[in-house]
Amino acid sequence: MTTRRTGWGYDIHRLEADHPLVLGGVPFPDSPAGFNTHSDGDVVAHAIIDALAGALAAGSLGDHFPEDAPEDQDARSIDFLTRFLPVLRAHHATVVNLDCTIFASEARIAPVAARMRANIAERLGIPMEAVNVKGKTNDGFGPEGQGQAISAVVIAVTASPNEGNPRRGNGLLSALILGGSAVALAAVALMPSHRGVR
Ligand SMILES: [Zn+2]
Repeated sequence: MTTRRTGWGYDIHRLEADHPLVLGGVPFPDSPAGFNTHSDGDVVAHAIIDALAGALAAGSLGDHFPEDAPEDQDARSIDFLTRFLPVLRAHHATVVNLDCTIFASEARIAPVAARMRANIAERLGIPMEAVNVKGKTNDGFGPEGQGQAISAVVIAVTASPNEGNPRRGNGLLSALILGGSAVALAAVALMPSHRGVR
């Protein structure tokens, strides 16, 4: 028996001229704008960590990769996924699947979605079929639709053995045993043949 848990992750970063753009570990060398952030600003990788941390009730991206960590200056955020594996192991959890949606009007996602899926799957040690990536242009609306920012939303499902959460399952069994005992005692007390015996 396994326990499945769901997590939701979100990230958005401003696009600035003459900065590199990386999404899902894939560089967009022809993009006129990118992220001016401490790491490479890869919103897909950041939202994945937030979704996984959410599924494990293990806080957020910033708890595991503080924004001011000097060693992460210009870090490749896709590598954060590999560095998050010990957190998954500590919770006896594996990743069942990820569904990633990228909101970007400038960068075209579909032609590179397979490369992003491969990057993500490889870092997490899961099959590519467990990772979906899709893009939305936002139809001209909002900062993503007007090319001022790119955001990502990720849903993650994790699985872990039930023994990692011993109260689950056993609680129902205990309730049945206690409930059954109470019914049996009440039945004995009401049986006419037992009245007046003691
Ligand atoms: Zn971020």
